[in-house]
Amino acid sequence: MKTILTTLNAKYIHTSLALRWLYVANKDRFDISFREYVIKEDVEQIADELLASGPDIIGISVYIWNVDKAKRLAAILKERKPGLTIILGGPEVTYEPEFFLKDWNIDYVVGGEGEFVLGDLLTAIENNQSTEIEGVSSIRNISRSVIKADLNKLASLPSPYTLEEDKTDIKNRLVYFETSRGCPYQCQYCLSSLEKGVRYFPQEHIFGNLRYLIENGAKQVKFLDRTFNLNKEHTKAVFDFLTDNYRPNLSLQFEIYADLLTDETIDYLNSKLPAGYFRFEIGIQSTYEPTNNAVKRKQDFSLLAGNIRKLMSGGKIDLHLDLIAGLPYETLERFTKSFNDVFDLKGKEVQLGFLKMLRGTALRRDAVKYGYIYSQQAPYEIESNNDISKDELERIHDAEHALEKYWNSGKFSRTMKILTDTYYKGRYFELFDEIGQYYNQNGLPHHGYQLEDIFFNLHNFLLSKGIDLFEELRTDYYYNFKIRPHGFWKDKMDKKERKQLLYQIGNDKPFLKEYKLTRKIIEKQTAIDPLGNSGYLLTVFNFENNRVSPLFIRYTFSDI
Ligand code: SF4
Repeated sequence: MKTILTTLNAKYIHTSLALRWLYVANKDRFDISFREYVIKEDVEQIADELLASGPDIIGISVYIWNVDKAKRLAAILKERKPGLTIILGGPEVTYEPEFFLKDWNIDYVVGGEGEFVLGDLLTAIENNQSTEIEGVSSIRNISRSVIKADLNKLASLPSPYTLEEDKTDIKNRLVYFETSRGCPYQCQYCLSSLEKGVRYFPQEHIFGNLRYLIENGAKQVKFLDRTFNLNKEHTKAVFDFLTDNYRPNLSLQFEIYADLLTDETIDYLNSKLPAGYFRFEIGIQSTYEPTNNAVKRKQDFSLLAGNIRKLMSGGKIDLHLDLIAGLPYETLERFTKSFNDVFDLKGKEVQLGFLKMLRGTALRRDAVKYGYIYSQQAPYEIESNNDISKDELERIHDAEHALEKYWNSGKFSRTMKILTDTYYKGRYFELFDEIGQYYNQNGLPHHGYQLEDIFFNLHNFLLSKGIDLFEELRTDYYYNFKIRPHGFWKDKMDKKERKQLLYQIGNDKPFLKEYKLTRKIIEKQTAIDPLGNSGYLLTVFNFENNRVSPLFIRYTFSDI
């Protein structure tokens, strides 16, 4: 009996830890393998490929981002091979198995952590026994149990992190890692709020596998722990291990509950940690207390903000701060305040998400109470509620596009610093909202643009507000390149004239000597821009001698 486990990841660099756990837990007893695909791949082709190896059973891991494709995949597989048994698992299907059993052409749904339950189900199918197993639902028997696997037992299995087939790709992909499972919090919109209690993997398992990943060249590891810093001793032990085993070119991402950070931990991170090694994702979601109370999110914003500021002062960790639009009681005005409160912390990225009514969550059950209208199709994003209209949410969507392009991309750091420290200080949402509206009114695309276009658009937007930051924008623009760019978003100089000027400067021997440049570097790797009456700006793209940014030089011809 041949079984294939599969899923559609959001991007190629993502890896499915769930498939690997299911595989290692069952590979010694069954003829089982796993195959990962990416959401944008053609489902017909995926079905062809899966069926080509003659499976009897296919297990599909279903998430909010792949629901529609997974449904189509299941339908095609059954149509082409009616005798095939299909098992679904994953967070999306766990809490409403009856919906998937009725709506999809599948046979079983496994609820919760399926590593060992899958083995029980495969044994039952193989031996024609009853499949009434705790955690397994079928059309004849719905199980409400959400299974939790024994983490010590999981740790005793062959490791899902060290599979031979992953070894060559470890450098190119994002590795997901877990040191614990479960979340103690109750945020009503989140599926993790339904998992009661937090369990930890044994330390030998955690350290052994992390050592393997570090030694084998992993570049990005994302910790899946819902609140990584929940347990002080555990957090310290893992942070100690990681700092003791620091390796350049490795980035580690954690989800952190900032209220729980102690001064001791912050001091430790600020003093011991190599810069750029850790990245923290911190969910703030809203700073409005009635909203947080409604969704049962425990949060002390002043404590959290103080902790974030202390962390920022160390300059070691990139902070990524999360906000959600569309939570109960947040009008546009109140959302603007939440946005400004969070933005004021100046995290490297501000991730603005839109509330989704996930299957199984308490907020979805309370949808009527708050007047939620939401899409019936995954990802079940809300369209409006009693406090915010569809138009207002669309406007926040436009602002979010602007936020992504102009803040989160990091491509405009100098210009954005000036804007958010002066012209738009404390009015951060207004800045992105106005850019979003400017894009709308001028029919500018949010996707599929060239880099110069978005510089040009921001320059024009700022001029429309009476703000001229041309020079800062030009500096930001050049910082985005490692070689001399072909064009420039406000390049008025004639090609011939430019060539001639660079030729003349290339003959200025004292100048070349002073800046340790050569004629070739001036002619081939240098951009030249007029500076009105004060000469020219030379931007040299010569990244030798450990230089990480272009060299900017003011040049006047009297120098010759
Ligand atoms: S949002 Fe975060 S803290 Fe809240 S329940 Fe979900 S995982 Fe836990």
